Amino acid sequence: MPNRADATPLWFDPAEMLVGGIWRRAAGTLPVENPSTGAGIGALARGTAADVDAAVAAAGAARAGDWGRMTAAERGRLLARIGRAVAARADDLARIEAADVGKPLRQARADAAALARYMEFYGGAADKLTGETIPYLDGYTVYTLREPHGVTGHIVPWNYPMQIVGRSVGAALAAGNACVLKPAEEASLTALAFARIAEEAGLPPGALNVVPGLGEEAGAALAAHPGVHHLSFTGSVAVGRAVQAAAAANLVPVTLELGGKSPQLVFADADLDAALPLLVGAGIQNAGQTCSAASRILVERSRYAEVIARMAGRYRALRAGPALADLDLGPLISARQKAIVEGFLAMAPEGSVAARGEIVADAPAGGHYLAPALLAGPGPGHPLAQEEIFGPVQVVIPFGDEDEAVAIANGTGYGLVAAVWTASGARQMRLAKRLRAGQVFLNDYGAGGGVELPFGGTGKSGHGREKGFEALYGFTTLKTVAARHG
Ligand code: NAD
Repeated sequence: MPNRADATPLWFDPAEMLVGGIWRRAAGTLPVENPSTGAGIGALARGTAADVDAAVAAAGAARAGDWGRMTAAERGRLLARIGRAVAARADDLARIEAADVGKPLRQARADAAALARYMEFYGGAADKLTGETIPYLDGYTVYTLREPHGVTGHIVPWNYPMQIVGRSVGAALAAGNACVLKPAEEASLTALAFARIAEEAGLPPGALNVVPGLGEEAGAALAAHPGVHHLSFTGSVAVGRAVQAAAAANLVPVTLELGGKSPQLVFADADLDAALPLLVGAGIQNAGQTCSAASRILVERSRYAEVIARMAGRYRALRAGPALADLDLGPLISARQKAIVEGFLAMAPEGSVAARGEIVADAPAGGHYLAPALLAGPGPGHPLAQEEIFGPVQVVIPFGDEDEAVAIANGTGYGLVAAVWTASGARQMRLAKRLRAGQVFLNDYGAGGGVELPFGGTGKSGHGREKGFEALYGFTTLKTVAARHG
């Protein structure tokens, strides 16, 4: 198969980072790999603590300058303009993302469309973020002001760079903050491309600064920086803990979007024809490297065998191949991630693999491909049913009744997304309340949901909310003004 991914439409130098409106090189670089081929496709700036320092200072200066003086309506108009510019470059952005992350082109296109939509949504919301007046004592007028935190730090993972930059930076800018963005070392290209587009659309210097680099260097420096007033982190539980500890040292608020082990509950009265595409699709999207992947399928015992058989049929038809071949799955992000997933699969009890998909024969040998695996056998307490695998692996588990289904669903320590498939309206309402999750879908599964829907978790899945209007509140601080006028 020709390595068409090499035709990445990069119109900028990925070894440059953006600090205070100036594109400049860092002291060192990091290699950029195309996971579909294993080939190098360039070099990325390896930002240091000093670069982060400069970026935070530039963000502070932007807050005190043109950016800080912009009205909410002007910010909104600007974000909407950036959204239109992103939409106009969506195909380029999708191709860059496909080459950098390995996701099938149509999934990369969906991410580019989501980035544009975030800018549109938050652009429209910027001047609708209001305070309130509060009845108080006689002779007083009391009102609240929603103000930006100031400088916000954004640490982003590699699995959905465009979507996560969109939801996090989009909301922060709409609220009037100035941002320092640290994209993931495995996938920084679209964050840099987005910053170029935003700059061309008129975003003032310093409002958005981008410092790529290693997590333990640039990421840790940003998390610990005393000039940052709010941290937004999306990534693993372990790093989330470290970021929260760093935030605690500076006493700043932090939003953590961590992992998940999200269940879909299938009751005997479910419409299986409607459920099946989403039972499988929500597990293998982005090769299972999705925080809100539906990695556990819980099925009422009377239909357990039938669900396994029907899911297995779909699995056998799944094909993994290069991103630009646009199949069901691309490669995993890296050899390291593939080894992690293979390590989990090695734990599968004998005879528990119900079905595997296939890797297409002409997939490049250097790519990090893994045939998706459907498992039936590991019990609810097995590591395969407890730990986030972050690969195309789903576990099907039987349950006897509603109480047992809830106990299994809530029994992992994570709580990000859940779905309930049932014809019973009363059960839908009951379970929506009983399930421990930040989002519950009834007869549907939207991994993460739309731009408008608040998203986030509880427990090991993190805290705080991204997306929707709720995220805007998170990127502001509330001031209460009490006037005694007699
Ligand atoms: P990761 O935690 O290793 O890295 C995430 C980001 O943190 C990267 O930018 C990385 O450079 C940075 N980082 C690493 N070490 C750091 C440190 N010591 N200090 C500061 N920053 C540091 O996660 P990953 O492997 O890139 O992503 C996979 C994880 O992210 C999964 O667990 C997944 O569930 C989670 N995730 C969650 C969501 C969500 O919205 N809940 C979305 C996507 C991914």
